[in-house]
Amino acid sequence: MTMLPADSHVHSEFSWDTGGPDSAARGTMEATCVRAVRIGLPALFFTEHLDLEDAWFSDPEDFADHERHLLDADGIVHVPRFDLNGYLESIDRCRAAFPELRIGTGLEFGQPHLRAEAVRQQLDLSDFDLVIGSLHTLEFEGRRVEPNTLFRRLPADEVIRRYLAEVPALVAGDEPFEIVTHLDYALRYWPEETEGPVNPRRFEEEFRTALRAIADSGRALEMNTRRLWPWMPRWWSEEGGRAISFGSDAHAPHALAHGFPEAVAMVEAFGFRAGATAQELWRR
Ligand SMILES: [Zn+2]
Ligand SMILES: [Zn+2]
Repeated sequence: MTMLPADSHVHSEFSWDTGGPDSAARGTMEATCVRAVRIGLPALFFTEHLDLEDAWFSDPEDFADHERHLLDADGIVHVPRFDLNGYLESIDRCRAAFPELRIGTGLEFGQPHLRAEAVRQQLDLSDFDLVIGSLHTLEFEGRRVEPNTLFRRLPADEVIRRYLAEVPALVAGDEPFEIVTHLDYALRYWPEETEGPVNPRRFEEEFRTALRAIADSGRALEMNTRRLWPWMPRWWSEEGGRAISFGSDAHAPHALAHGFPEAVAMVEAFGFRAGATAQELWRR
């Protein structure tokens, strides 16, 4: 088989939802590098969460035990500030310890279309090798709310439609992010118990509109390998998409590069090809 592509979406203890550097997640970056070498992954980017919502609401049951202390009594989420210096020190240590692995810096920037100014006051995004853009929350009753919480408040179809309807706004501006992550984010939380298995094809028109907007913005689409959907690269290429990345969205070492061989085969079938190095986007 050809060389695996870089995993362009990986979290370590420097992401708030792993529990932070003082939790059991300590050492995750290093353990993830060990895992990368073991499975023959040539490159990865540690894209830590940067979520700067000012009124982000969540039901407590939608937060894992180790995250629940981030919720106040009114259900508003307070995410700790990203530890840039600790992160960069850890990156340096790992680059020295794993010279055979290409380790890129990165951020997963949540709601970049709404938070670009807030980020500029904290960080210079051009310092990072890769910035990926994510839509994690939607507007609901004056606050931002994650899809998992919204599924308890709106009809399930409506959550998916609202999520996809916000994607054109996500990519309309010139905020500096190269890749749109997990377009199926809302599908992850589909309430199967009450609705049965999700059938994404019912939302084909909405997915295609979102994909077209991403393609028109010149950005790449992430093949999020947490769950592989053959229609994703198909609709992406049919709507004018030219470039893709591969992202496991791993929050623990064992999930690194999950499903990559299958994802590679899937996108090759639609004409996407590797670049000169593993870190480059695949293009058609
Ligand atoms: Zn995400
Ligand atoms: Zn992520």
